[in-house]
Amino acid sequence: MVKVLLPGMQKYTAIILASRKANEVNRLYIMYTLEQGLVKAVAKGVRKPNAKLAGHLEPVTLSEVYVARSKGMGQITSAITLETLENIKKDFGKLSEALKIFRFFLKNFSEGEKDERIFKLLCGFLEFLAGKEAKVEILTEAFWWKLFDVLGNRPEVVKCAGCSGKLRADSKKYFSISKGGAVCLDCRQNFEGLTAISDNQIKLLRVFLGNSLEKTAKVKISEKEVEKLAKIRGNYIKYHFS
Ligand SMILES: [Zn+2]
Repeated sequence: MVKVLLPGMQKYTAIILASRKANEVNRLYIMYTLEQGLVKAVAKGVRKPNAKLAGHLEPVTLSEVYVARSKGMGQITSAITLETLENIKKDFGKLSEALKIFRFFLKNFSEGEKDERIFKLLCGFLEFLAGKEAKVEILTEAFWWKLFDVLGNRPEVVKCAGCSGKLRADSKKYFSISKGGAVCLDCRQNFEGLTAISDNQIKLLRVFLGNSLEKTAKVKISEKEVEKLAKIRGNYIKYHFS
């Protein structure tokens, strides 16, 4: 079915991030779209029982959303689900990782800042995450570091972020959150708040930054190493983003 777009009407391919009550009858939807990045729009009457539209606008759904714009906030006139991503919605572990990412989007992105790479990265991530065999921890970790890269915060893990020297396999290495990269033993004294980082964790970061999500999900590494990287990532977000 091809929908004819009326003047002032916009069609979005959208990942529904969140929704909140706007007033007694309306609901505000926040979505990340291929066409315009973050978009906010209201839907009328979706709080009434059995409102058909609401099903297509549930958070963690990929939908085609039609928005009419005149003055002020756009109004959602119709929506069609493209991917229900049901396996994420019904799995607490997967859902909570997806929602953490969505919260990051809400905090750090402004309306109308379009970035196709981010949309594709998020879409690809959610599709893999919805897969039955998905390794949640490593996939999530890969997503975050790839996202930092797209956002211009690619961590330095090829050479020392301090002296640009080689990161030698036979000596200790650290990660500097503020400098955004691995630091060699000699540079240790020049930085504060360093975290020790293992060769495997550095290798993993290199794999994340140099490969597709699909490939990174196949890497075999211990849960502990991924956990440690997740901790560094948490601090990285706190320091570099809001
Ligand atoms: Zn160094």
